[in-house]
Amino acid sequence: MNFKHFMPTEVYFGKHVLSTNRKLLKTFGQRAMIVTGKSSAKKCGALDDLSSALSGVDIEFIIFDEVEENPSLETIEKGSSIGKDFGADFVIGVGGGSPMDAAKAMAVFIKNPEITAENIFDGRVLGHIPMLAIPTTSGTGSEVTQYSIVTSNKEKTKKGLGQIVFPSIAFVDSRYTECLPYDVTVSTAIDAFTHLVEGYLNTNSSLMSEMYGEKGFELFKGCFKKLIDKNLDGEFRENVMLASTLGGIQIALAGTSLPHGMGYPLTYYKGLPHGIANGILTIGYLKSFKNKSRISRALKLLGLSDISELEDIFKHLFTININITDEEIFAYAEAFMDQKDKLKNHTEPVTMQDIIDIYTVSLAK
Ligand code: NAP
Ligand code: ZN
Repeated sequence: MNFKHFMPTEVYFGKHVLSTNRKLLKTFGQRAMIVTGKSSAKKCGALDDLSSALSGVDIEFIIFDEVEENPSLETIEKGSSIGKDFGADFVIGVGGGSPMDAAKAMAVFIKNPEITAENIFDGRVLGHIPMLAIPTTSGTGSEVTQYSIVTSNKEKTKKGLGQIVFPSIAFVDSRYTECLPYDVTVSTAIDAFTHLVEGYLNTNSSLMSEMYGEKGFELFKGCFKKLIDKNLDGEFRENVMLASTLGGIQIALAGTSLPHGMGYPLTYYKGLPHGIANGILTIGYLKSFKNKSRISRALKLLGLSDISELEDIFKHLFTININITDEEIFAYAEAFMDQKDKLKNHTEPVTMQDIIDIYTVSLAK
C-alpha cells in the first residue's frame, strides 16, 4: 500500500471553539486583518465572537468586509493593499468559501508586495503570511484546503490561485450556519457532497482520503433526509458542517475532477451558485463512468441502491432554469479540456465529446 497524508491545518470543531481557544491567536502576531463578506459574518455572530477573542488577547485588528461571492482579483488587491498599510501579521477569513479564499489570496499578496493581479499566475511559488479560517457555510471545506479559487475578469473565468495556502487553524462552529437561508444551505451542502464524490472517485484517492469520504457519505444519508424535510435542526447543522470539513480534507488530499472544472463557466456566465453548478453535472458525471463499482460503494453508504435514487434527491432539492446554446456548451467543453489537472484526477479516459455529452444531458430542459 502507498499513500501520502498531509493535513497541516489544526482543526478545532465544536460549539464556542473560538472563545475557548482564543489564546492560540497570540501565536500569529499583534495585528490581524479580518476578511468577510458584506453582512453575514455580522449576522451569524462569528464576527462578534472573533472581535471579542482578539480584543481579549490584545490583538489589534481591522475588518475588510467587501468580499463578494466568487471573489475577484480586484477585490483581493484592494484588501491586500489595506492589509499591507495596516501592517497585518496575519489574516483571518470569516464566512463562506468566498471570504476564506479571498483571505488566503490576500495572505499571499501581503507577503509578496511585488505580486499583482497581472503576475500572480506566472507560476512562481510564493509564501504567505499566516491565515486562519472560520467557516459560516457548510460547503466549501476551504477552512482545511490549500486552494483559493478566484475570479479573473480578465480571463473571464474562475480559477485556482495556483499557490498552496493551508489555514494554520480552522475554528469550525456550526452555530454560525444557523442563520443560513434554505437555498444557500442546499447549494452549499451540495458543494460539500460533490467534494466527497469527486475526492472519492479520484485517481489520487487513497486509504486515508477514502476514510473521510466514507464517513462523509454516512453523514449525508441523514443530512439529505433532513434537507428534504426542511428539518434544519442543530443536529443537521453540526453533521453537515462535519461532512463539509471532511469533504474539504478529502479534496485537500485528492483534488476535485470533472464537475468542479466543468461548473466554473456555469457560475461565471450563467450565475449558478458554485454548489448547484457542480450538483447539476454530478448525475451525468456518475452515469458516464464505465466502471461503477466505487460508485456502488458510495451509494450503499448513502443508503441508496442506484444513481437514479440520488437523482430523485437532487430533483427534490434544486432545479435550474438557464438558457444555454450548443455553441456555449462547445466553448465550455473546449475550455475544460485545457484543465489537465482535473482530467488527470478522473479515473477513466475522457474525450471532449464525453464532456459535451455530460453538459448536454445535465442542462437539457
Ligand atoms: P459564499 O460565496 O462565500 O457566500 C454565499 C452567500 O452566502 C453570500 O451571500 C454570503 O453572504 C452568504 N452567507 C455566508 N454565510 C452565511 C450565514 N452564516 N448566514 C447567512 N448567509 C451567509 O458561498 P460558499 O458557497 O461558501 O463559497 C463559494 C466559493 O468558494 C466559490 O468561489 C467557490 O469556488 C469556492 N470554493 C472554494 C473551495 C476551496 O477549497 N477553497 C472549495 C469549494 C468552493 P455575505 O456575502 O454577506 O458573507
Ligand atoms: Zn466546491
